[in-house]
Amino acid sequence: MAESKRDYYEVLGVDKNADEAALKKAYRVLAKKYHPDANPGNKEAEQKFKEASEAYAVLSDPEKRRQYDQFGHAAFENGGAGGFSGFDGFNFSGDMGDIFGDIFGDLFGGGSRRRGASRGPMPGANLRTSVRITFEEAVFGCEKEIELNLKDECPTCHGTGAKPGTNPETCPKCGGKGQVVFTQQSLFGTVQNVQTCPDCQGTGKIIRDKCTNCYGTGYVSNKKKIKVTVPAGIDNGQSIRIREKGEPGTNGGPRGDLLVEVSVGRHPIFQRQDMDIYSTVPMSYAQAALGGEIKINTVDGDILYTVKPGTQTDTRVRFKGKGVPSLRNKNVRGDHYVTLVVQVPTKLNDAAKQALRTFDAETGNSLGESPEKKAEKQEKGKKKNIFDKFKESFED
Ligand SMILES: [Zn+2]
Ligand SMILES: [Zn+2]
Repeated sequence: MAESKRDYYEVLGVDKNADEAALKKAYRVLAKKYHPDANPGNKEAEQKFKEASEAYAVLSDPEKRRQYDQFGHAAFENGGAGGFSGFDGFNFSGDMGDIFGDIFGDLFGGGSRRRGASRGPMPGANLRTSVRITFEEAVFGCEKEIELNLKDECPTCHGTGAKPGTNPETCPKCGGKGQVVFTQQSLFGTVQNVQTCPDCQGTGKIIRDKCTNCYGTGYVSNKKKIKVTVPAGIDNGQSIRIREKGEPGTNGGPRGDLLVEVSVGRHPIFQRQDMDIYSTVPMSYAQAALGGEIKINTVDGDILYTVKPGTQTDTRVRFKGKGVPSLRNKNVRGDHYVTLVVQVPTKLNDAAKQALRTFDAETGNSLGESPEKKAEKQEKGKKKNIFDKFKESFED
């Protein structure tokens, strides 16, 4: 269970920001070292191999990696804590097929994606797209309609790709199996490698007379409008899974899924961190010193907040439950933290300046001005003003 599990990044010896290429490289090194074929009967190597394979399976899948980064190993337990988008836990046997295809495919120089040996029903591939929403739409959820091209079975040939009245022929190279087996020498000894048949591209069939409607592909693309229900609380970069809106399956298999990545726009005043919202609200020096009411924007609308007399700058106020709802339960909400910042005025008229000097003299005299010096300064100011006016009249 979780407590004895090592961090996936640690297992692969990469840092958290490692890109796909770095992950692959790290995994290949470990896989070569610990592969059971290279370590016959070595239980520890086998364990290490499995551990590395599992880490790679998760981290190499952007969606799973996000879940893992957010929830750790808990994301893959009991259906997954982060399972809002129907995330399926890590399945060693199922997920490994693709990985061996990816990794050992290039390792042995042959594309050995393990497609089912029989030509039974195969699910279609997942499709990915993205949708942009506003900050508020992410907080409260929304409905979006996206338009995309979806492949459907060609109605003319019913997906066979062959001209009506003709039939696809069985591929003579692979005998209809879609795969050819070849033997290769490798690091681990002689390896029987299964490769997709190059003549029929794995379909097991050769089409002599192509269907004119789909050009022999068996599919036609149609523009489809798909409604996406964005749950309240979704964050930037998270994906929504829409079942069976991906590529069509083959031989009666189900369609793949559509994964919609959500991109959340920036808000001019709110920042978000998980379920909490942060903002900064200015208050005047007088409000901070004497207390007063200030208007605070929240995602639920404005709040009139009473500043206590003697409030310091950078005071942080918490508005409970004014943050972002939890994806799992929209009635559970984060908080909104407001930082109150005293604004120092940059434009003051003479009366305001004078009032501040008087204020300063009353409150510790930080300016260090004696009454005489003050008077002198004021005199100088006046003289300068007269001089400036005099000058201006000449310039005109
Ligand atoms: Zn067709
Ligand atoms: Zn073939």
